[in-house]
Amino acid sequence: MTPIRSAEIIAVGTELLLGEVDDTNSAWLAGELAARSVDVYWSLRVGDNRARLGEAIATALRRTDLVLLSGGLGPTEDDVTREAIADVLGETPAVDPELERWLRERFGRLGRDMPSGNLKQAWLVPSARSLANPAGTAPGWLARTTVDGHERLVAALPGPPRELKRMWHEELVPELDFPEAAFVATTLKTHGIGESHLARLLEGLTERANPSVATYAKRDGVHVRVAAKADTEKAARELLAPALAEVERHLAGQVWGRDGEDLAALVIALLRARRTRLAVVDCASGGALLNGIDEAAGPADEGWPLVYGVIAWRDDAMAVLPAAPSAPPSFDPVDAEAATVAAQLAESGRARCAADLCLALAPWRVEPMDGTPAAANWTSAWAIAGPNGTEARRVTLPDLGYGWRRERVAFTALVALWSQLTRT
Ligand code: AMP
Ligand code: MG
Repeated sequence: MTPIRSAEIIAVGTELLLGEVDDTNSAWLAGELAARSVDVYWSLRVGDNRARLGEAIATALRRTDLVLLSGGLGPTEDDVTREAIADVLGETPAVDPELERWLRERFGRLGRDMPSGNLKQAWLVPSARSLANPAGTAPGWLARTTVDGHERLVAALPGPPRELKRMWHEELVPELDFPEAAFVATTLKTHGIGESHLARLLEGLTERANPSVATYAKRDGVHVRVAAKADTEKAARELLAPALAEVERHLAGQVWGRDGEDLAALVIALLRARRTRLAVVDCASGGALLNGIDEAAGPADEGWPLVYGVIAWRDDAMAVLPAAPSAPPSFDPVDAEAATVAAQLAESGRARCAADLCLALAPWRVEPMDGTPAAANWTSAWAIAGPNGTEARRVTLPDLGYGWRRERVAFTALVALWSQLTRT
């Protein structure tokens, strides 16, 4: 068997074309194939139509080693993946007695009669063998054929993502011969730098194919992925290392983590290591900041390291907090500069909650921009009050919607806390 060098993914289902169901299977399969050094040059979505699906499979078979289908294996008439594969292979499906027995037993265990429509889930064609599906009623198919003298494979997996993933790992991967080539990648997660600025910074590096450098704007900053491919893992790592070092040099001071790391989890780990108790007063992110921290902290362990969280929507949230030690007698939160409000919130939150550190976000202010009344900037501020004083900074964002603003300000505040914890 020659190793599979290329694959084409075909996601089947009219619901995918109507935008009713997100095609997550294709993305997931693409990741699995990339990790095994299989090149995917085409990925397609086709509706529940036997002729068009047959056309897609036939085209894929002419140019690709492995044609990987997802969906269309249900018992209903609109699910036609088996029919289309049989059409392309020029074979006639027949009920496989063993599959039929398995299917009837499955219904029997649930105390139900098998509807006649389900019988087609026991079909096979001579070139195909079945892939077991203990989680559902649709077995998969793996067919072998030859096109223009090239050995080709067609695999059909069920649409429900849980069934598809299990079948891929347990049934299909062990049957496939993947190339020896190894693929390695490292993702650097940055803060305080926009994607276009980053692109300029990495100019020249992002144009190479192997090792490759690519940027992706994510919720937790822009990610820079450095990847390399070679015949062995050792060779791939050797190819990756200088490119990664070069990217790291360009990004000095702007990287908060890599690969699977989560910023809130890093912050929690730092707080735990120092036995530092944190309180949060959030008047800007509607809970997004606390949610991330709370998720990373897990269930409260004697209220530590996150001791209190306050989510408020207005300046007068300050009324529930004691006056900050530094508050001037005539302090008016409505008129004060955002960073001053944030500092007051952080200091009173720290006192009220008996915390070592308090991270606060000031309520938003709208600032119309000069000349363009339609465009407005939004300003909040973060502040961190601690035993050695208070640090605060304004955060001004363009009007790109509240959901976006909430996430940005929460991320910015978390970065501020992370950098203070790593600095001190
Ligand atoms: P099917 O195998 O076509 O009967 O699909 C069964 C169900 O799996 C669908 O109703 C979808 O909810 C889900 N599904 C099908 N295709 C996909 C896909 N490409 N990505 C994510 N979910 C899918
Ligand atoms: Mg379907």
